[in-house]
Amino acid sequence: MPDLESNYNELISRYKEVAVIGSVNGLLQWDMQTIMPPKGSERRSDQLALLAGIAHNRMTSPRIDELLTALEAHSGELPPEEQANIREIRRDQKKAVKVPQDLVEELSRHESVCHEVWVKARAKADFDMFAPYLEKMIALVRRQAECLGYKDTPLDALIDLFEPDATVAVFTKLFDEIKSVSVPLVRKIADAPIKSDRAFLHRDYPIELQRRFGEQVMKSIGFDLDGGRLDVSVHPFCSGGLGDVRITARYNPNAPQQAIFGIIHESGHALYEQGVRADTFGTPLSEALSYGIHESQSRMWENLIARSRAFWTFFLPRLKELFPTQLADASLDKFLLAINHVQPSLIRVEADELTYDLHIIVRFEIERDLFAGKLSVSDLPRAWNRKIEDYLGVVPPDNGREGVLQDVHWSGGMFGYFPSYSLGNIAASQFWSAMKRAMPDLDKQIATGKFSDALTWLRANVHQHGRRWSRDELLQKATGKPLGTADYLQYLTDKYSDLYRL
Ligand code: ZN
Repeated sequence: MPDLESNYNELISRYKEVAVIGSVNGLLQWDMQTIMPPKGSERRSDQLALLAGIAHNRMTSPRIDELLTALEAHSGELPPEEQANIREIRRDQKKAVKVPQDLVEELSRHESVCHEVWVKARAKADFDMFAPYLEKMIALVRRQAECLGYKDTPLDALIDLFEPDATVAVFTKLFDEIKSVSVPLVRKIADAPIKSDRAFLHRDYPIELQRRFGEQVMKSIGFDLDGGRLDVSVHPFCSGGLGDVRITARYNPNAPQQAIFGIIHESGHALYEQGVRADTFGTPLSEALSYGIHESQSRMWENLIARSRAFWTFFLPRLKELFPTQLADASLDKFLLAINHVQPSLIRVEADELTYDLHIIVRFEIERDLFAGKLSVSDLPRAWNRKIEDYLGVVPPDNGREGVLQDVHWSGGMFGYFPSYSLGNIAASQFWSAMKRAMPDLDKQIATGKFSDALTWLRANVHQHGRRWSRDELLQKATGKPLGTADYLQYLTDKYSDLYRL
C-alpha cells in the first residue's frame, strides 16, 4: 500500500498545481473584464498564454501518465472517492495529450484574430467579412475533434468538452421533446387575452439602489460575501472558487430586472462553487460536474425560485422600500406577469424563460448540420433566419447582427457549447421537482424569505459531489431518475397556463 498511497498523493499534488494555475488564470480574466485599463490587453494576453501553456505542459507530463497507470492497476484497492479522482484526472489528461501542442497554439492564436474580426463584422453587420475566419475556425475545431475521437460526428467530440457523455443524438431527442411543447405554447400565449403591462419597469431606477437590492438578495439566498464579491462588467459572469468567488452585473437604469435576475443567476453559479467540500479542494471532487449542471444551479435560482410568486411575496415589499414611487402601481400579479412576459424575439441573451430554449435549439441544429456536412458557412445566415422564423415566428433582418452574428461563441471555437444552457433548464426542473417532493412546504418557506432548506438540499445533493458521479448517476441519486424532459415540460406548461390563464 505505501506505493499506492504515495503515488496517489503525488498525483493529487500535481493536479492541484494545475488547478492553482487555472485559478490564477481566472483571476487575471476577472481583472481583464472588470478593472484592467485598456492598454493592459497586450500584456494580459501574454500572461494568459504563458499560464495556459504551463498548465497544458504539466497536465501532459509523462509523470502524470505514469502515476495514473500505476494507480489504475490497483484502483480497486482505493476508497471510492479516490477512484473517482483518478478516473476524472485520467479523463482530463487523455483530452490534453490527444491534442498536439501546435494545434492548441494555433487554435489559441486564431481565437484572438477571429474574435477581433467578429467584433468588427458584427458592428458592420457584415457576415461575408467574418465568413473566411469562421471557415478556418471550423477547420481547426474539426482537427481538434479528429484528435479527440468520436463515434458518430465530430460535434460529439466537441460537445464532450463541455458536457461529458452527451452527444448530438442525446440532445436531438431532448430538444425534439422541448420543441413539441414550447413552440405551440408560445403561439397560444401570443393569442391569449392577458397582456402584461411593463411600463413601470422602464422608469428611473438608480444603479446604486439596484446594487443594494442585489446584495440583499445575495445574502438572503446564502451567498457568503466574505468568500466572494459583486462587481460590474459588460457581460455578467461568475469566476473563482471556494474562498473567492466573484460575480459581476451589468446595470441598466431603465430596466432593473436585467441586473436583478443577472445577479441571481450568477449567484446560483457562485453558490455551487461555495458549496464544494473544502477537504477536496484542488481535486476533481471540488469541481463542477459539467457546464450544464453548473447552469442548472444558476437557472434554478434565477427562474424556478426568483421568478416565482413565493419569492416576490417576500421580496416585492423590500424592492418597493428602495423604489417606492417607481413601483407604486405594481401589484404582485402585475409584477409577476411583467417579469415572466413571453415575447418571441431575435436576441438570445434577451429572451424570456420560455423562448430561450428555442434560440438554443436553432444554434444546435445548425451546428449539427454544419458538422454533418449538410450546411456550409455561406449557408448559415439563411439557415439561421429560416429556423428562427419557423420556431419563433419572427423574421430577422438580413444583416446578421440580430441573427447569425449575434453570439461570441463560434468566434472562440466554442462549438457544442450552446446545448449546455438548455440542459441546465432541464436539470434544474428535475432538481426542483425532487426538492418539492422532499420539502412540500418549500414555497411557504420561500414566501417568508427562508432559503436555507433549499440551499441545504442543493449542497447535499449536487454541490458536495463535484465530479464524483456522472451526470445521470447524480440525477438518479438526487431525483430518482436520469436526465429527462418530463419535469421541465410539466413546469413550463403549468407555469404559463397559470400566468396567461390558457
Ligand atoms: Zn450561467
